[in-house]
Amino acid sequence: MVAVTKTVDVDTINEAIDFGITDIGENRVQELTKKIDLIGDRVNYHLIGHLQTNKVKYIIDKVKLIHSLDRISLAKELDKRAKQNDLIINTLVQVNVAEEDTKFGLEVSQVLPFIEQVLAYDNIRIRGLMTMAPYTDDEVLLRKVFRTMYELKEKILSQDYENLSMDYLSMGMTNDYKIALEEGSNMIRVGSGIFGERN
Ligand SMILES: *Cc1c(COP(=O)(O)O)cnc(C)c1O
Repeated sequence: MVAVTKTVDVDTINEAIDFGITDIGENRVQELTKKIDLIGDRVNYHLIGHLQTNKVKYIIDKVKLIHSLDRISLAKELDKRAKQNDLIINTLVQVNVAEEDTKFGLEVSQVLPFIEQVLAYDNIRIRGLMTMAPYTDDEVLLRKVFRTMYELKEKILSQDYENLSMDYLSMGMTNDYKIALEEGSNMIRVGSGIFGERN
């Protein structure tokens, strides 16, 4: 579980860590780097939100996993900065299954060709897929979205790409994590369910 700590203050985060939280996620680079400075290496850090290319340099050597790889220009920058830092950056490809205008991510049909392009970058390792499902109580729709992700993961695995793994299916938030887990998620990102409603 990735505890999503956006807008949560550092004292509260430290308290959550004392209770056993091992991984925290932020969707803004500035907030993430500030918290890393204050909290240190007690936890693993995940960048779960949209990542601007010009901010990659601030987090490249600080995060365990970037959940929001969604375009080649970002892959290029991640690869360049990872090389400079002599590291391999772990990423998930973000998929916008429901094709919502308000969300980032590739359409399902774009994912395979995208992955094949990213495989050319030696310092990026794709470790799985991430999605944000629509905010809805429609369980049928949610299951359909999560199942589509699971099937996409299986399809990618069947290609036997070298230097790529599908270790993580990052899906499920406060509203829908139970359904996501039932449909094959193995990484949920929970914020308000742990810390309460955000302002
Ligand atoms: C805010 C956020 C979450 C957590 O949302 P909750 O509904 O508070 O659990 C998960 N993933 C991403 C990408 C987010 O931005």
